[in-house]
Amino acid sequence: MDFWREHAIFEASTTARQNGQPWTFYEGPPTANGMPGTHHIEARVFKDVFPRYQTMKGKYVTRKAGWDCHGLPVEIAVEKELGFSGKGDIEKYGIAAFNDKCRDSVTRHVDAFTTMTNRMGFWVDFDQAYWTMAPEYVESVWWSLKEIWKKGLLVQDHRVAPYCPRCGTGLSDHELAQGYEIVTDPSVYVRFPVTSGELAELGAALLVWTTTPWTLVSNTAIAVNPEVDYVVAEVTLEDKGEVSREVLVVAEPLISSLSGEVKILKTIKGKDLERVTYKRPLDLIDIPDAHFVVLANYVTTEDGTGLVHQSPAFGADDLAVCRAYGLPVVNPIAPNGTFLSEVPLVGGLFFKDADKTLVKELKSRGVLYKHQPYEHPYPHCWRCHTALIYYAQPSWYIRTTSIKDELIRENNQTNWHPETIKTGRYGDWLNNNIDWALSRNRYWGTPLPIWRCEEKHEVCVDSLKELGALAGKELSNLDPHRPFVDDITFPCATCAKEMVRVPEVIDCWYDSGAMPFAQWGYPHKPGSVEKFKAAYPADFICEAIDQTRGWFYTLMTIGTLVFDKSSYKSVLCLGHILDKDGRKMSKHLGNVIEPISLMDQHGADAVRWYMLAAGSPWSARRVGHDAISDVVRKTLLTYWNTISFHTLYAQSSNFDISQIPAVKDRSMMDHWILSELNSLIAEVDLAYSEFDSQGAGKALARFIDDLSNWYVRRSRRRFWDGDLAALGTLHECLVTLTQLLSPMVPFITEHVWQEVVKPADASAADSVHLTDFPIADMSQIDLELNAQVAMTRRVVELGRAARAESAIKIRQPLQRALISAPGWAKLPSDMREQIADELNVIDLADIADADGDLVNISVKANFKSLGAKYGKEVQDISKAIAAIDATALVKTLRTTGTTKVATWEIELGDLVITEVPKSGWMVASHEGESVALDLALSQTLIDAGNVREVIRYIQERRKGDGFEISDRIKVRWNTDAAIVSAIEQSASHISDEVLALEFTHDQSLPAGDNELQISAVIVKA
Ligand SMILES: [Zn+2]
Ligand SMILES: [Zn+2]
Repeated sequence: MDFWREHAIFEASTTARQNGQPWTFYEGPPTANGMPGTHHIEARVFKDVFPRYQTMKGKYVTRKAGWDCHGLPVEIAVEKELGFSGKGDIEKYGIAAFNDKCRDSVTRHVDAFTTMTNRMGFWVDFDQAYWTMAPEYVESVWWSLKEIWKKGLLVQDHRVAPYCPRCGTGLSDHELAQGYEIVTDPSVYVRFPVTSGELAELGAALLVWTTTPWTLVSNTAIAVNPEVDYVVAEVTLEDKGEVSREVLVVAEPLISSLSGEVKILKTIKGKDLERVTYKRPLDLIDIPDAHFVVLANYVTTEDGTGLVHQSPAFGADDLAVCRAYGLPVVNPIAPNGTFLSEVPLVGGLFFKDADKTLVKELKSRGVLYKHQPYEHPYPHCWRCHTALIYYAQPSWYIRTTSIKDELIRENNQTNWHPETIKTGRYGDWLNNNIDWALSRNRYWGTPLPIWRCEEKHEVCVDSLKELGALAGKELSNLDPHRPFVDDITFPCATCAKEMVRVPEVIDCWYDSGAMPFAQWGYPHKPGSVEKFKAAYPADFICEAIDQTRGWFYTLMTIGTLVFDKSSYKSVLCLGHILDKDGRKMSKHLGNVIEPISLMDQHGADAVRWYMLAAGSPWSARRVGHDAISDVVRKTLLTYWNTISFHTLYAQSSNFDISQIPAVKDRSMMDHWILSELNSLIAEVDLAYSEFDSQGAGKALARFIDDLSNWYVRRSRRRFWDGDLAALGTLHECLVTLTQLLSPMVPFITEHVWQEVVKPADASAADSVHLTDFPIADMSQIDLELNAQVAMTRRVVELGRAARAESAIKIRQPLQRALISAPGWAKLPSDMREQIADELNVIDLADIADADGDLVNISVKANFKSLGAKYGKEVQDISKAIAAIDATALVKTLRTTGTTKVATWEIELGDLVITEVPKSGWMVASHEGESVALDLALSQTLIDAGNVREVIRYIQERRKGDGFEISDRIKVRWNTDAAIVSAIEQSASHISDEVLALEFTHDQSLPAGDNELQISAVIVKA
């Protein structure tokens, strides 16, 4: 980190590509009024890796930081600090002073964010950061609002909208979507006795279901669906010997909501119920000329009774229906969410708290039919968690519904990762688009730049300059916030009456969605037009999935509204961060992992690697210490150990990269790993370009495994001998691997570059992050060779599994292994020798010659693959397969690949093969490949096994006693008398293996504490 800062590597990496094609990244701004959390690391890791990759590909990738400053979340935090309980307190305190506190609060944790960002290696330019509260930013937002206003798409409307009574402001649809909580409400069935016509004569009551009893106070009408059949039913109920009888009206499909004996007296179409009058259950307030049945198509018969009570002040549908019938809109609830004090019974009560009292009242009035608790998701304020109320109020809207087609068009051209979001979560959202409720009746936000006179003439200003011109004052240094802009007034151009600003501020989500242009102060600031044009739209944005209805939406919408073009081409939606048990992290559960301590414990690279490579980026991910240690051990530590291994042998043999032999003069193993390396370059390149960090991580991890656990391990001798081809090949692999890894794990790779690559090659770049992304040399890729080594490794794995099952130690040589694998016949002898060596067997042969001899084979039809091919015939095929000789069938398939069973063509994969070894053999099989080990042990094999044990024992002692790898030693040894002669016979072989100049049997040594009682005295020769 210090190295990067000292040498300005980030700056150098971008300026070096200044003439490259721009690749634009937009930073979704965090709000720095709280401490950064682990979820901030997640997003920042992904925001870092792809820009680093694109830079290595030669693109010019600037990364401007940003801070989100305005909005309700900030106000609420400050209110809490000041101990305020509502808007009254703020007004008393003074808007100017309150906004000053808000301004301070959003800069409070900027340092913590910067520290975390640097610590995790996220390269972003804080010096040029944009602030959404900066005057130039606010003016740019004003400019865009004026563009929208000029198109007639920014209008004031009276509508029922979700409203937070605590915060005293409406919420937009995307905010609403973020705050659903599961609550239990009273669910009540209420009788509304009919007062006119034939139904009244029958003494019928309309049965209505609601989960918001508090809205019954303002009941204005009852809606039915005109097309639905309603039944008039006589209901007889016996309760504790008392028989009651009544007549109720419900929708026919919902007749089950009635209990007791039900007799249908009559069926009526909904439309024939129109204007039937009823007596409302509560008469606490005056609602003139109301209380009759109205028709509404939105009424469904999915739940309830099919009769919906209407309260137009608290429901958008209700309002539309009641307006159509000319019904009054009566609202008994004050903006703070309490019933007006003059309302009897519930005056002064918070709307939700009134439910209990009202249900009691309904019961005492005898109109309560049924009452049960009802659990359902109910919208709450996403910031303060107060239950929202749907509330009729004037509000400013952006008519996003009028650009719905354009939004859908832009969405279709967007690359979503994961792709399902495009038509799923986000596509649905656009299809159900409703107008954006933009205004907030609050204080700390971008003021809505609309001035209005008494006659409702309106002007929208796009800058302080324009405002100054209207007011006839120099205002370019005015703070464009409340209360200062509120003080500016001027005469109306039309009627000369005073123009005053409308009191609202705007949704802070508009601010962040305006960042593509507002970050440059577009179009007012000199140079901003060029900067904006060069960086619009973004090639890449990335945030957590909750932003589909937040920033992803507002960015696309504002871009489309103002420029008729979405502001991004590709978007990566990340899953949420959970704790190790899959629970949300919360202070309440005490399972929050602090980002800095997480990185202190594991290292920033480990955390980055975990976020990028372990698991799908768009699934919710669990973060726990064990999981991180695990992936680090598997991959990063192996990479590190391979680097150390190379360094050790390079030093001991004075390795010089100019001496590396040409590729054509190297061994098959070298050709193989270079072939894998070049395949890896192509694979990782593609994965990074498609934002698939998990795919890149998988390929890199697999290569690191190949390199360490096969190439290096199988080439140990060559490294001991200082073989230049081996050292050179490994060096080349590590240099390229380090570059490929560098976007994901920038610290460890930089360290390797400085300590290993740079010293070996003076021409190497000053930093791995200044290098170009490697280019695959296709001529070095040999797919057949790759496949053969992969098969070799699989066969070794199977052999090891069979060994493990047989409980015969790997050091005990076995006489024979039989192999079955497609392509075995063509496997080069070198690789067969590797297998024999790895499995410690003397002979390898093809299983095809011995099938029936060593295993009992039985087969069953593989319904999945056969079903896919033959459909329903699979039952008949299964019978046919069961009827024929399994051994012969498998043998045929293993040689020819396909065959016919009756009339059906089948392949090996169409069978489920069970091979039970005959005694004396151990078989392991996986996906058509098998290894069978001959477990018979001759005396020669046992002796050879004992020799191996002795070698291992001495090797371990060498290590334990601290000898250097090249030290020659003298050994005096003793062992179980029964095996002494076998050891003596192999003395020269053992001496070679352990670098012993003397190897002497000494009977006087005490027996060792191991199976063969080996003991030894080892000294340096
Ligand atoms: Zn609220
Ligand atoms: Zn006017």
